[in-house]
Amino acid sequence: MSAERPQGVHLSHALTPRGWKRNLSLMIDGSGRIGALHEDDNPLRLPVCDNPVVPGLTNLHSHAFQYAMAGLTEVRRNPVDSFWSWREMMYFFALTLTPEDMQAIAARLYLDLLKGGYTGIAEFHYVHNDLDGAPYPDPAELSLAIFGAASRTGIGLTHLPVFYARSNFGGAALLPRQRRFATTLDSYAELIGRLRAPAAAGGHRLGMAPHSLRAATTDEIRALMALRDAELPGSPVHIHVAEQMKEVEDSLAWNGRRPIEQLFDIAPVDRGWCLIHATHLTDAELTRVARSGATVGLCPMTEANLGDGIFPAAELVARGGIFGIGSDSNISVSAAQELRQLEYSQRLSRQQRNVLATETHPHVAAALWHMAAAGGARATAGGEAADGEAGLAVGNPASFVELRPSEPVIASGEAPDAMPDAVLDSHVFADRGVHIGDVYVNGARVLTQGRHPAEDAIRADYAAAVARIRTRLADW
Ligand SMILES: [Zn+2]
Repeated sequence: MSAERPQGVHLSHALTPRGWKRNLSLMIDGSGRIGALHEDDNPLRLPVCDNPVVPGLTNLHSHAFQYAMAGLTEVRRNPVDSFWSWREMMYFFALTLTPEDMQAIAARLYLDLLKGGYTGIAEFHYVHNDLDGAPYPDPAELSLAIFGAASRTGIGLTHLPVFYARSNFGGAALLPRQRRFATTLDSYAELIGRLRAPAAAGGHRLGMAPHSLRAATTDEIRALMALRDAELPGSPVHIHVAEQMKEVEDSLAWNGRRPIEQLFDIAPVDRGWCLIHATHLTDAELTRVARSGATVGLCPMTEANLGDGIFPAAELVARGGIFGIGSDSNISVSAAQELRQLEYSQRLSRQQRNVLATETHPHVAAALWHMAAAGGARATAGGEAADGEAGLAVGNPASFVELRPSEPVIASGEAPDAMPDAVLDSHVFADRGVHIGDVYVNGARVLTQGRHPAEDAIRADYAAAVARIRTRLADW
């Protein structure tokens, strides 16, 4: 989409890395970045935003197609349902989708994510092949469907084609129902090569994603790192790791190493990496993750939905580690809900309140939002991740979100300085009618008062895709 890119916006209240600031003239440069930030009385007469503004978050983990399967998975089909029985339904659902469906679902999801506080998405994309498992005539067909959805909505895309070649530790062969995901080192290199030009043309970032240590052998991960050095140097690398106890047990049974130990043994894990979930780790592994500079990709709503476990986020932060949030199965499309679930999981396990608040951000919603902004930025910057501050700071993408309260809120300090925190607290924790208003991505306004210009068409295309999928499921 081509959206309006103004010269700048005057923000009455903005959440910066140093806390809330009043009366900021935010200037947008020619590449969509924040060119300048001045505290002033708007001498340039920029358009004014009177409501609190927060940095847009990058959603660092999504499988877009799963957005459409929420109605299939909340029924008990086993004496003890688990992640593993959910996965069987996901495999089944993935076998019903065409490229047209994939694009319609992803566009619908990305529209929702823009309305949910996200301005960027890292798509961990593993459905590559046609229904019979053969490559499409263009092996990038389904990746290009994702590119199309991102361009249509205006969300910032980091595309992570997934390498998926094994069904368990030790190089076990793929199962027939995993055939749409199958890659080889050769087909993966071909896919990366095919995607470079359209990614550059569309302004999308490319990264790499070995699915997990279950789906790629040690030799394959080493070969992927060589491919990264040759073709996409410094690009982000994302991997699922230690999401489930069964995965840890299978890894121990295979070679006596836990998945995170094994990953650090075989790969150069650094700030260019994002470890998705990392739920089940020892104290020593947690320290190693924090020291590495890698982002931990937490997906609190999906992890709760799948019964994964609770990640020790407070302990990670205490050791200087970094996390961001992802919507993963897209059971939730709201950044506020993810952050609330994350904080509540820490409260329930520690029997405390306001666990993730910090000295700079004593209001826990502001602390969570700021940490998630920093983690999302690092997880998509790859090896280029700088030490500078994430969020609303000069040089960063001009991606930000207006919070519109539909009714007045009560603040705990003197208005107006306490008001922005009260609005953000209400948005994240209290369901008190605080909605996303205007949304800017890389300097362009993509939502105006919560509305997207292509919204009706995107919804209609999604409804048509759902109708097609229902017919196919009925015929199965
Ligand atoms: Zn995932």
